[in-house]
Amino acid sequence: MSYSEALLEGLAPDGGLAVPAEMPQVDAATLERWRALSYAELATEVLGLFATDIPRDDLAGMTVRAYAVFPRPVVPVRRLDADISLVGLSEGPTLAFKDMAMQFLGQVLEYTLERAGSVMNVLGATSGDTGSAAEHALRGKERVAVFMLSPQGRMSAFQRAQMYSIDDANVHNIAVEGVFDDCQNLVKELAGDLDFKHAHHLGAVNSINLARITAQVVYYFWGWLRATDETGAQPVSFAVPTGNFGNILSGLYARLMGLPVHRLVLATNENNVLDEFFRTGMYRPRGAADTHATSSPSMDISKASNLERFIFELVGRDASRVVAAWDALADGGEADFSGEQARFGEEFGFVSATSTHADRLATIRAVHEATGEIIDPHTADGVAIARQHLDDGVPMLVLETAKPQKFAETIQEALGVDLDLPEDQRAMMDAPQHVTELADDAAELRTFIERHALR
Ligand SMILES: *Cc1c(COP(=O)(O)O)cnc(C)c1O
Repeated sequence: MSYSEALLEGLAPDGGLAVPAEMPQVDAATLERWRALSYAELATEVLGLFATDIPRDDLAGMTVRAYAVFPRPVVPVRRLDADISLVGLSEGPTLAFKDMAMQFLGQVLEYTLERAGSVMNVLGATSGDTGSAAEHALRGKERVAVFMLSPQGRMSAFQRAQMYSIDDANVHNIAVEGVFDDCQNLVKELAGDLDFKHAHHLGAVNSINLARITAQVVYYFWGWLRATDETGAQPVSFAVPTGNFGNILSGLYARLMGLPVHRLVLATNENNVLDEFFRTGMYRPRGAADTHATSSPSMDISKASNLERFIFELVGRDASRVVAAWDALADGGEADFSGEQARFGEEFGFVSATSTHADRLATIRAVHEATGEIIDPHTADGVAIARQHLDDGVPMLVLETAKPQKFAETIQEALGVDLDLPEDQRAMMDAPQHVTELADDAAELRTFIERHALR
């Protein structure tokens, strides 16, 4: 399928995830040419390698509009200390990195739907940040409605306010009695019912949407360009606070495209299914009962949808092996890649570790004492684990995935300070909230969508 088709379909027709038919390649000379570009210009170049069905001028218009809502620079790269720099991905409207891809998605969705004369009812699940980023990117758009499931009582007060204060008629907040994985299972069930999906023009903007993965690839190139100079292909490492494996997968794609990435350092919190996988090769998704509510809540995920895309690369793009592994998982089993575990690091650059609540607090404190900076709990997980994987002469870039204001409760616990909210954010906290509570029940959700979907 074309990029536009993958954007509108979300999942492939067989229920699997869409992947680029071929990974585009970027050579050293091209990288150097990109050094002088603005963020939007770089996005046009990188996204143009994937979105080959969209005219370049149209794409350029979309990236300009998408990143116009950010301050300048769109992605500041700043030194934290002698070893570590932060890649600032949280300057957008919802103060988390999801804005980076979602603002572009809002533009490309509107464009594509208009060309197709169609509408989309976006059905998504969020552990907090995806939902607000999607709603802020899609609110008020004519051809799109948003149905966003969130786990009741599992998000911070700020995250709730950011979503539920939106009063645009095309945005529907649905709080489900359950955890994130329950929400995601409901989405999968409805989206997997192809008759229902097509009858109601359902689409996805979760990180399984390939357009989001590609939009995230851009800032790995940007980070590399800011951390290196013209003197040759110097490797850098990236440390990534990880939940659904979307962000770090984009880093893998950048590496497979030829970007000199030394290590991809995967940081999990106590919900460490992925750390276990990368250390042992055994993928054992956990159920809701074994998913803890932590102080880095956007990483409270025990079943990482995007891992499928790494496995696809791992097995040499042999789809039948992916299908076999995922069939075993569907029956409640596990996927055993222990025989290839050594290749995760050697061939693909992955290393991983787990950060705990205590690590998070200690890291927030240590960074604050050393630099005066306050980092959010997710970024703290990244910094904590990045420190375990430093290599001499290789810059370590930690992706800053949220601003601390989003998680003020944990900052208060770590530093004993209450963060001041900017005026507009305070108004948002006090605004009336719009949310519908539903049971963890697919039939109820179907009825709700039938009633409110765009046609
Ligand atoms: C979504 C999110 C993550 C996890 O990103 P994935 O792409 O799901 O791995 C980490 N930190 C924050 C703040 C997030 O919003």
